[in-house]
Amino acid sequence: MEKNKYTKNLVRLSKTKYLNGLQCKKLLWYIYNEPGVIPEPDEDTKAVFDQGQLVGDYAKKLFSGGVEVDHTGSFDDGLKSTSELIAKRVPVFEAALAHGNCYARADILEPVGKGKWNLIEVKSSTDLKEVYYTDIGFQYYLYTKAGLDIDKCYLMCIDNNYVRRGDIEPEKLLKKIDVTAEVKETYSKIVENNVAEMIKAITAENYIEPGIGPHCHDPYGCPLTAKCWSFLPERNVFLLYRNNKLPFALIKDGIYELSRIPETIALSEKNQIQINTEKTGKPHSDRDKIREFLDTIELPSYYIDFETWQSPIPMFDNSRPYQQIPFQFSVHINRCNNLLPEHHSFLADGTDDPRPGFMARLREVIGNKGSIIAFNASFEMRILKECAEAFPQYKEWVESLEGRIVDLLQPFRDFAYYHPKQDGSCSIKNVLPVLTGKSYNNMKIGDGGTASREYFRVTFTKDNEDKAKIRKLLEEYCALDTLGMVEIVERLHNLK
Ligand code: SF4
Repeated sequence: MEKNKYTKNLVRLSKTKYLNGLQCKKLLWYIYNEPGVIPEPDEDTKAVFDQGQLVGDYAKKLFSGGVEVDHTGSFDDGLKSTSELIAKRVPVFEAALAHGNCYARADILEPVGKGKWNLIEVKSSTDLKEVYYTDIGFQYYLYTKAGLDIDKCYLMCIDNNYVRRGDIEPEKLLKKIDVTAEVKETYSKIVENNVAEMIKAITAENYIEPGIGPHCHDPYGCPLTAKCWSFLPERNVFLLYRNNKLPFALIKDGIYELSRIPETIALSEKNQIQINTEKTGKPHSDRDKIREFLDTIELPSYYIDFETWQSPIPMFDNSRPYQQIPFQFSVHINRCNNLLPEHHSFLADGTDDPRPGFMARLREVIGNKGSIIAFNASFEMRILKECAEAFPQYKEWVESLEGRIVDLLQPFRDFAYYHPKQDGSCSIKNVLPVLTGKSYNNMKIGDGGTASREYFRVTFTKDNEDKAKIRKLLEEYCALDTLGMVEIVERLHNLK
């Protein structure tokens, strides 16, 4: 391992690194001493970052006369520009301040009262999380040490009750939560000690191994998970279905393999089924439960799947922040068990609200009788109800669908069928391959997140030269979901 090159004077601890250090000192050590080991953020993380920028831009509109610090120059230039703007008593965006080893940029500093400032941290989430107090606590500590007189501390985040009507109204889109008391009394007071410990950890020759634990995912997914968790065998105890605590206790006792969980350990019925199948390598099936489920399906049956995207800034009238906006559906219709299923699809084009076209086409396709089958049907029903709120002409029709809906997730969530290769998951992504041999693995678009991102890119941005190709891939992906469901039901019929 490379010899440590950091001394206390060289450490510059930003707020993000402070949060990293609170999560795990090993992570912090790597960030400073072997940064090359930290993987680049994935596409989902980058998308969240972009959304944060967008929300930040709306927040700035609420502070007239505000000026953004230019950070294109050196670190010291940023500090200097900030202090000049602070002297002018104007709202300052991205204000850079430093004290000792600490450094941060405040989203917004608002001049108030006699020489005082309000500190406003902008987040693209809809609620207050403990990590935000920690974040603002670090800033409060640093800015007051740097000489600012901070009056109030606020978290500014998205109000998901806001409904867009016309232009975005930033004062309604965003809500301000006063966190002054918690920040002043608790979260800022622990910063000094924490920073001292972090500097010790960063400048140490090596890190102290913390071992894996819930801290690897809380408050954020750690980028070193693949490295630190690599000692686990492929079929490890973390595959246990919906069991977050037991795996860590088992690891502490040196039990890594799923099949080695001792019989003396009390398990839920589903976990026990899982262990039994793990040992035998054979699937479990409960014929009565499968038959009972299949009896709920009536012909004609409509297998449906929706793709959606969401944004903190509602893009269309009558939509809320983070509302899932459907842009695509696939429907396979089974009119008679001996015929090949009929396929219908919809994929919105253009930059208008896709919901009117989506709802009109779906109503044409799924008619007014027969079962409607979805995998995790509560999602599809929620989308339809939200669309009906925005377009009340569909309200009655959507209500009429409730009695027709069948959730194909149910027999898997109930463990009426479980195959060890489902790896403790009942998602269609895991169920489809074990029952049909089909898989999403080699698809360029093979998950909802990618579908959503790619649709958005080719529809709403100029980076769309490959639009035709992406639309074809989207059609293939969504169609696999519904054809897959038809085949899953066929396989269940063979098992009953
Ligand atoms: S994966 Fe866990 S143990 Fe490893 S650095 Fe991250 S938080 Fe620490």
